[in-house]
Amino acid sequence: MTNTETFSVMLGPEEKTIPVICSWCRSVFDTRRWLIPYGTSITPDYGICQDCLRRVKVESAGSAHPKTSRKTYGILIVDDEGNFCGMLSDTLHPLGYRTITCSGGGDAVEYYSRLSADINLVLLDMKMPDMDGYETFINMKRINPDIKAIVITGFARDSDIRDILAAGALCVLEKPFSPQVLVERIRDILPP
Ligand SMILES: [Zn+2]
Repeated sequence: MTNTETFSVMLGPEEKTIPVICSWCRSVFDTRRWLIPYGTSITPDYGICQDCLRRVKVESAGSAHPKTSRKTYGILIVDDEGNFCGMLSDTLHPLGYRTITCSGGGDAVEYYSRLSADINLVLLDMKMPDMDGYETFINMKRINPDIKAIVITGFARDSDIRDILAAGALCVLEKPFSPQVLVERIRDILPP
């Protein structure tokens, strides 16, 4: 055992304050206290702040469509970044959508093969380690040729974007985008 390890065992876990950052506006809107092993560096949590949530809700309510949809749509969110999945889910759930998150293409295809009838729209990240967005989309399209998907990308090549649009994805949202833009795109595809 090295000196550092002895030291941390002696000190045990320590309580640290972890900031919770809004993924949309990047403000710190909350903190959480966690007991973590001594010397561990802290990483922030992500979520959606009340201001951003209110803004999306108000703007959705002010649009030409009624606020709540008569139909409850199911949206499958596929992204290897768990925080991003959670943030999209936190944003869409209060608007009345049923959200399911998958952290990889393989899991998402597996889920879709069983429950595609419950999924009205797929939000699909382009760059994922196990199965990329394109391959995931092609596999899902084999299960349901009428699949509706919005592709989300941070830094995709133009050729990749062209390929997935040519394969039938409905549109591409480039990060960073605002929650309002996300909700507008969804409402264009799934009329309330
Ligand atoms: Zn915010």
